[in-house]
Amino acid sequence: MREKLLDEDAWAVIAFQKVLRDEHPALVSGGRRIPCVSIPRGWQPRYKKLIEDVEAALGEWAPVFRISQTKVTEGGLAVAVTFDSAVPREVVHQVDRLIAQAEEDVSRICEMCGEEGREWDIRNWPRWLCVTHAFAKCHEGAGSRPEA
Ligand SMILES: [Zn+2]
Repeated sequence: MREKLLDEDAWAVIAFQKVLRDEHPALVSGGRRIPCVSIPRGWQPRYKKLIEDVEAALGEWAPVFRISQTKVTEGGLAVAVTFDSAVPREVVHQVDRLIAQAEEDVSRICEMCGEEGREWDIRNWPRWLCVTHAFAKCHEGAGSRPEA
């Protein structure tokens, strides 16, 4: 698979990881390791709101709760959490609902610009894009093959 890493979008992902670690150290860092948080630029505001909502829902339980992994899969945004067994069931359910809503919301947001979007099949891989960026992605590299 051709990857174009460390273009400006990649730097935006890295910068966003730092913002999350700085602003929500208990939830996203856990002190021991940095979880995979690769959120495309267009989804970052919605993901940040999710983290804020989750932290608010957890209240006193935030220290024993972690966003353990977040990644973009073929199915879209996937957020995994780990938590201490002492966390009350209703709190866990509330957090689950917040995560499910965020995962659903970003499926209608362009991952590149944050405008309204939908899922597209770009070279047999799902992408969530507005019409403008879907068009750009479809034609990206179509007429030029610098590596050839
Ligand atoms: Zn877009």
